[in-house]
Amino acid sequence: MELKICHLYPDVLNLYGDRGNILCLQKRLEWRGIECRVEYVKLGEKSDLTGYDLFFIGGGQDFDQEILLEDLRIKKGPEIRAALEDGRTFLCICGGYQMMGHYYETADGEKCEFLGAIDFCTVGGKKRMIGNYAFRLGDESGGSTVVGFENHSGRTRLGSGVRPLGKVLKGYGNNGKDKTEGVRYRNAFCTYSHGPVLPKNPAFADTLLETALRRKYGACTLEPLLDQFENLAHDSVLKKI
Ligand code: GLN
Repeated sequence: MELKICHLYPDVLNLYGDRGNILCLQKRLEWRGIECRVEYVKLGEKSDLTGYDLFFIGGGQDFDQEILLEDLRIKKGPEIRAALEDGRTFLCICGGYQMMGHYYETADGEKCEFLGAIDFCTVGGKKRMIGNYAFRLGDESGGSTVVGFENHSGRTRLGSGVRPLGKVLKGYGNNGKDKTEGVRYRNAFCTYSHGPVLPKNPAFADTLLETALRRKYGACTLEPLLDQFENLAHDSVLKKI
């Protein structure tokens, strides 16, 4: 078995070491003897996105997101939307999450018309939402508790038919008001959680891998890993908040 992972915009969207999520996915596959190929598709590069099983898009500052617009519109947008609708697995973090929605209006009033692949909108506020936080994944995403770090000015409001990724236990989440965090749409997992989020949330990491493996090979349950250090890191953040 093998998974092909595409890291989109590694040159522009990679705040708070979000690329650590790729390393975590890679290791959790290799520790189980499953091949993993990671390819990087940067700003300005046109690439055939049809052959990937899992896409990762990290976070970015407002400026980083603004320079994406042209590339999304002309080069990658249609293929990202097609991969999403084709049930490919996505992990989108913060700015990478926001770009899947209709638009992101920055706190300075700059409006980034984004992909509109998922029905939600984001509006920046003067006060940034920053800190360690925790949320519980929806049952369809495994139901585990996720700990992470958020730093965003964007307040995301979900469209009426859009499911959140989870429910905020402590912290802000999508907008600091409705207790929703992120989005789960088809096999896309979108979250504000930086960190990187996956190394200290092994159950969430395995949910992503099983989602991608199931789509490619049919039924799949990953052998459990020891995860003692991952769980220690998880619990230490949980205690802190
Ligand atoms: N620039 C966006 C915001 O401030 C996303 C930030 C991020 O990716 N951490 O909401």
